[in-house]
Amino acid sequence: MTEQEWYAQGLRFACTQCGNCCTGPEGAVWFSEEEGQAMAKSVGLEHETFLRRYARKLKRGWSLKEHKTEHGFDCVFLDRETMPGKAICSLYDARPQQCRTWPFWKENLETPQAWESVKKATPCPGMGKGSLVSIESIRIQRDALP
Ligand code: SF4
Repeated sequence: MTEQEWYAQGLRFACTQCGNCCTGPEGAVWFSEEEGQAMAKSVGLEHETFLRRYARKLKRGWSLKEHKTEHGFDCVFLDRETMPGKAICSLYDARPQQCRTWPFWKENLETPQAWESVKKATPCPGMGKGSLVSIESIRIQRDALP
């Protein structure tokens, strides 16, 4: 029998569009070849041009570039201009799995303490708020990344 996850009753989450998960210390926004192609298409660029302009090749794979702002290292596609007081993803519909599945990453879900600590460290005001995300939906998001 498989052990029940500590979040078997679901977890609350509602993004407030603060952008905190898209900035902070230097990091990586990993994406696959297919995701790179989808993002390139969404901004109307050839795949190669998109990679040259917006991505960097790291040991583990391709990551979106970041740029230093007063908030930290913002993802190159984080838009703080369009909606005053909000920070939105300018390629939301084509964003990679890493972004789609936040905050339901394996490491964040390991223990209630891990969940609480990432909620404070990011900080992500959406975690623990809003509507209940079901265990089925959490599992799909949790297992979407390698
Ligand atoms: S930190 Fe949380 S609330 Fe803020 S943009 Fe990211 S997911 Fe949304």
